[in-house]
Amino acid sequence: MKIELTDLKAQYRTLKAEIDAAMQSVIETTTFIGGPEVDKFEQEFASLLQVGQCISCGNGTDSLYIILKMLGIGPGDEVITAANSWISSSETISQVGATPVFVDIDPEFYTICPDRVSAAVTSRTKAIVPVHIFGQACDMDRLLALCRENDLYLVEDCAQAHLAEDQGRKVGTIGDAGSFSFYPGKNLGAYGDAGCIVTNSQDLAINFRKFARHGALIKHQHEIEGINSRLDSLQAAILRVKLRYLDRWTDQRIAHANLYSEMLSHVPQVVTPACRPEGRHVFHLYVVRVEQRDELAAFLQGKGIQTGIHYPSPLPFLPCYRHLGLNQNDFPVASRMKDEILSLPMYPELKTQEIEYIVEQIKAFYR
Ligand SMILES: *Cc1c(COP(=O)(O)O)cnc(C)c1O
Repeated sequence: MKIELTDLKAQYRTLKAEIDAAMQSVIETTTFIGGPEVDKFEQEFASLLQVGQCISCGNGTDSLYIILKMLGIGPGDEVITAANSWISSSETISQVGATPVFVDIDPEFYTICPDRVSAAVTSRTKAIVPVHIFGQACDMDRLLALCRENDLYLVEDCAQAHLAEDQGRKVGTIGDAGSFSFYPGKNLGAYGDAGCIVTNSQDLAINFRKFARHGALIKHQHEIEGINSRLDSLQAAILRVKLRYLDRWTDQRIAHANLYSEMLSHVPQVVTPACRPEGRHVFHLYVVRVEQRDELAAFLQGKGIQTGIHYPSPLPFLPCYRHLGLNQNDFPVASRMKDEILSLPMYPELKTQEIEYIVEQIKAFYR
C-alpha cells in the first residue's frame, strides 16, 4: 500500500468534470482578474461562515499582513502569537515592523495557552494572533476577555481551520478579523496560492480591500499606497466548486480522526489528539505524540506510509529568530513536543482499510 500524508489526486479524480468545466468557462470569458467568479466566491464563503465581509487575496500570508498593516500595527508594537505554528503567523508581524512575542502552547490541546498570553501582555502589546492549529479552535473567550481588558486587537489565523468552531462560533468570525489560506493542501485548497480575510467590520473590510488592491477601490484613485494581493478568477472558480463539498469533507476528516483515535487508544506509546469539548476540531492534521518518533516515521515510510512533522522546530528557535535570544525553558511544552509529534495521513478520501493498515503498522513497530 502507498498512502500519502494528503492526496490531492484522489480529490481531483472525484471532481474532475466539475473543475475542468469551471476552469474552461473562465478561460473562455478571459476575465482572469476580478469579475463574477471572485465576487461570488467571496459572497459564498462569507455566507458559509455567516460573517459580514470576505476579502479575497493572494495567499494566507498576505491576508495576515494586510490585517496587521491596516490595524495600524507597526514599529514599537508587540504582537503575541503561538510558539508552534507556520512562520506566516510571526513573519507578518515583523513585516509590519512590529515585534513577535511568542507564547507557549497548551500541553493537551496544542493551542496557544491563555494564561501565558496574559503574562506576556505589556504596555506595547497591540494584538494577539491565536492560531487554530491543526484545525482546533483556541479558547477564544479567554482571549477575547484579555483583549477587552487590555484594548488589544484579536486576529485569528484560521489557515488550518476552515469551519472549525468554538462554542458554536465559526473561527475567523470571533475576533476583529480572521485570516484564511487556500494553499492546495489546506482543508479548502485552490490549485495554486490563494487566501482571504473575513470580518464583521465594514470599516475594516474597506481598508483591507483597498490596501490589497494598490490602495484604490476605484481604478486609478489611489488613496494610499498598497500592495497587489488578489485571488485570480481561475482559483476562485476552482474554490467555488470545492466549497460545495467542504462540509462533507470536514465530517469525513472528523470521522477518520475518531477511527484513528479509537484504534490507537490501546497503544501506550501513542498519545492521540485531545479535542476541546466546547469546540469542533476539523483535523487539518491528525497529530499524535509518540515514543521513538524518528524510528517510527522511517519504519512507516518503509511500509509505504508518508508522515509529517508540524513543525520540526518551534518558531522561537528558528535561525531567523536567533536575535531574540529565546530559550527552551521559556517554551517547555513546545520544546518537549517537537521531538514527539508525528502527523499521520489525513484527507477526506482516506479509506477505512488504509487507516486500519496504518494503525496495524504502528502496532507492529512497537511490538
Ligand atoms: C498555511 C498557513 C499559513 C499561510 O498560508 P499561505 O497561503 O501558504 O501563505 C499561515 N498560517 C498557518 C498556521 C498556516 O498553516
